[in-house]
Amino acid sequence: MSDYVADFIAHVKAKNPSEPEFHQAVQEVVESLSLVLERYPEYRSERILERIVEPERVIMFRIPWMDDQGHIHVNRGFRIEMNSAIGPYKGGLRFHPSVTLGILKFLAFEQVFKNSLTSLPMGGGKGGSDFDPKGKSDNEIMRFCQSFMNELFRHIGPDTDVPAGDIGVGGREIGYLFGQYKRLRNEFTGVLTGKGLNWGGSLIRPEATGYGSVYFAAEMLSTRRETLEGKTCLVSGSGNVAQYTVEKLLLLGAKVVTLSDSTGYIYDEEGIDRKKLDFVMELKNTRRGRLKEYVEEFKRATYIAFDPKLDHNPLWLHKAQCAFPSATQNEVNENDAQNLVKNGVYVVSEGANMPTTLEGVRVFLDAKVLYGPGKAANAGGVATSGLEMSQNSMRLPWTREEVDNRLHMIMKNIHKTCVEVAERFGTPGNYVNGANIGGFLKVADAMIDQGLV
Ligand code: NDP
Repeated sequence: MSDYVADFIAHVKAKNPSEPEFHQAVQEVVESLSLVLERYPEYRSERILERIVEPERVIMFRIPWMDDQGHIHVNRGFRIEMNSAIGPYKGGLRFHPSVTLGILKFLAFEQVFKNSLTSLPMGGGKGGSDFDPKGKSDNEIMRFCQSFMNELFRHIGPDTDVPAGDIGVGGREIGYLFGQYKRLRNEFTGVLTGKGLNWGGSLIRPEATGYGSVYFAAEMLSTRRETLEGKTCLVSGSGNVAQYTVEKLLLLGAKVVTLSDSTGYIYDEEGIDRKKLDFVMELKNTRRGRLKEYVEEFKRATYIAFDPKLDHNPLWLHKAQCAFPSATQNEVNENDAQNLVKNGVYVVSEGANMPTTLEGVRVFLDAKVLYGPGKAANAGGVATSGLEMSQNSMRLPWTREEVDNRLHMIMKNIHKTCVEVAERFGTPGNYVNGANIGGFLKVADAMIDQGLV
């Protein structure tokens, strides 16, 4: 690491205290960029790094709402408008009690590079709240979403900032948010993506992140002339991304043996088939229950509760060839990465954002694992959001096949960009460098073209 990069990382840490996830995301990107800065000194003289880590705007607001018993609650809302050099801000909203400014800044920062990689004209943003949707009634969710939008509507718009879903924000929440935006603005526009199919949503958007992560894994495997057929796969999470990762893996002939939620995971040695996946979808999307119920229905599977005292996640201890971390950030630490490699995993495609710690990433790179970092592997979600924006602008819906084909092509192109850029900068097979540099160049050049803004 050069002195300039080391000093820069120290500066970011000092200037943004108590934001460890943001520091981590910046460090990972900037370490890759040291290769670029040596070759193209203009990025340094134009102070692109200093500018790209500073959000263009941060909006932080109060969200008061009333529960079904008439009690008043107050949450905090955020929208980070990180970078608009190549298009309107675009990125999801997360509702989870762990949400802080630092978490959303890491997500918004990652989003800038990811959106650039899709080759669609989208800047980067992210938002959300520390609100916990678990255990809330539909009416409480609706009142919360309306109160959230009562402030957010001032800052977003189809050509300004277009939010979507993320953890805790699915079709139900997007519906309530869109309804309130429409009422406040008196306009029906494509201001949010992930909308319902009969009011402007795109086919394949719910499936896109999971399908895209599997397409990316298939591309990585094809570099070794292999396919996913017959491979055993570990998947974490059981939400939107995990569910459609499993669906696509089943369609491609792979076997999935794990799923998790925030309290534990299930191991099903016989494989999670279509019928079992339907059970999980109904459990999580309709009944909003806990994954533990899986083993009450399918008795040969086992449920293991997470133990916070452990220094590793036992989900990653099972023998497999492929892993798809699809729950949340930092769910794969150094020990987990070592366990995965020891147990035969040589393909890792990240459905979640930054699920692997910096130390874990080093283990994968040293072991020559086909490692697809989230900003490349999970870009299918935002890419299909971009396709939803195009359909909204044209007021013309595309068929399922058309959207899926475009998603597939975009994932192939992202893979190709990562491979070519990694090679160009002297680190063949390093998808981390490929994604970080590939995403950076387009944004940095646009920033230079547009002057000091
Ligand atoms: P969902 O809310 O649909 O599902 C999240 C899943 O992860 C749930 O199973 C949840 O368990 C689990 N989870 C959440 N927090 C934790 C935690 N702290 N520890 C363990 N498990 C946890 O979200 P998504 O599937 O949409 O998002 C999953 C990941 O994918 C996130 O990192 C997100 O940023 C990323 N992503 C999502 C995209 C999208 O299009 N939705 C696009 C690109 C990335 P529980 O049910 O107990 O809460």
